[in-house]
Amino acid sequence: VIELSDLKLVYSSDLADNVIKAGNFDLTNNFMLIGGPCAVETEKQILDIAKQVKKSGANILRGGAYKPRTSPYSFAGLGLEGLKYLQEAGEAVTLPTVTEVMDTRDIETVCQYCDIMQIGTRNAHNYSLLREAGRQDKPVILKRGMNSTIEEWLCSVEYLLKEGKKNVILCERGIRTTETYTRNTLDLSAVCVVKKMTKIPVIVDISHATGRKDIMEDLCLASVMAGCDGLMLEVHTNPNKALCDGKQSLRPNEYSNIVFKVKETRKFYCVLHKSAV
Ligand code: PEP
Ligand code: MN
Repeated sequence: VIELSDLKLVYSSDLADNVIKAGNFDLTNNFMLIGGPCAVETEKQILDIAKQVKKSGANILRGGAYKPRTSPYSFAGLGLEGLKYLQEAGEAVTLPTVTEVMDTRDIETVCQYCDIMQIGTRNAHNYSLLREAGRQDKPVILKRGMNSTIEEWLCSVEYLLKEGKKNVILCERGIRTTETYTRNTLDLSAVCVVKKMTKIPVIVDISHATGRKDIMEDLCLASVMAGCDGLMLEVHTNPNKALCDGKQSLRPNEYSNIVFKVKETRKFYCVLHKSAV
């Protein structure tokens, strides 16, 4: 039992040797490389990007069908149609898929079409969503709330674990600070702290953490050296035309170059720490 001020995290400490699977793919014994567009836009768009990220070495395909947008007038995703295109693309390139679920009413559908559920930063404290997601079989990637302390983030994951769920992954995606030169402030110490405190895999979403393509590669490599278990990056074949987050979306060749260096850095990290790649 991990004691945190007056809070008890009962289950987080109890996940040793926990293997998390998406279909046949073992997420715990592979460094997770999640790539894909912010949002699924068309059948062709997600399929083209799926082929490219697969070729670059991604092992999980991302794509939003239900998009939480700051403005109610922005493109909010294709919903069910998007889930179907994402599933088709994942099957075409044999990659497991991840997509965000925003509403308890969509959980069943998302689980039907997708291999991993993502709970986004805006819903990181939506306790009814966490409770309901915790009752499903599919793995959950839980993002850190943009204003959450590490302790609050761990309390959120505790909601999932309390329902008996074991296949959970935490995702640091940057937090709100006074800084404005990056979209959010990437908190790499949170990765280290959570890895010290729990056995839960921790990945880093570099795209939303930085919002800047010019610093993504360096922060990917820094995240690997901080000990993360995977990286999420947004990729688009035509960033200028993207309906969501085009400015921070990598072109396939940029993604491929980063993945190559990430893999090299991960090998170095594992040699240094005498652990398996
Ligand atoms: C996303 O990954 O598509 C997303 C919206 O991320 P976040 O919830 O971290 O903003
Ligand atoms: Mn995005």
